[in-house]
Amino acid sequence: MIDDGLFCPSCLTPVSIETALTNSTVSWPTEKWVYFRCECRGNYAHLEVDNDYEANMGSVKIGHVESIAPDFICHSRILSPDLYVEIRRELMIVEYTSRKYIFPAHDSITQATIQLVEKLFPAADKEDVLLLLVNECGGNLPLVDVGSPLIERIRLAAIKVSNGDKTKLCEAIEQAKNDWRDLLVWAEQRN
Ligand SMILES: [Zn+2]
Repeated sequence: MIDDGLFCPSCLTPVSIETALTNSTVSWPTEKWVYFRCECRGNYAHLEVDNDYEANMGSVKIGHVESIAPDFICHSRILSPDLYVEIRRELMIVEYTSRKYIFPAHDSITQATIQLVEKLFPAADKEDVLLLLVNECGGNLPLVDVGSPLIERIRLAAIKVSNGDKTKLCEAIEQAKNDWRDLLVWAEQRN
């Protein structure tokens, strides 16, 4: 199997596994794809992250997804014994060396939500915060349907009210579970 390192398919800059995972955001758990943004020119590509059980390693591929017939076109690939992928319905968890990277499913969290988390929270809290939002602040809320645009409004309100403090975010999510209308009003008053 080819194991010649990862390269950005647009600018051909070498990309380490750590850089690839750090610069990725949302996932397609069924396909095992994550959305990757190259640092150099901000070009977008996809990663396919999977366990190679034959080689007893994790595999990362960089490539493109054909939008007409969704199919992954691989440009480069790397294998690592330090990489393990766990697929869940609403997210992908990639463990690499001692770090865990969380990629919420593309339809479970919006880019605007991820950007506000990145803006207000320290980088070290990002994974915990995304997990909290996906697991605790979504279709489980009262009177909210899975896939409702209300979920994004409530999440943005909770993040705003927390102002980058994890304890305050937990409190805001607990409030949303009781009555998220109070949280929306509160967040609007703080603007
Ligand atoms: Zn690039």
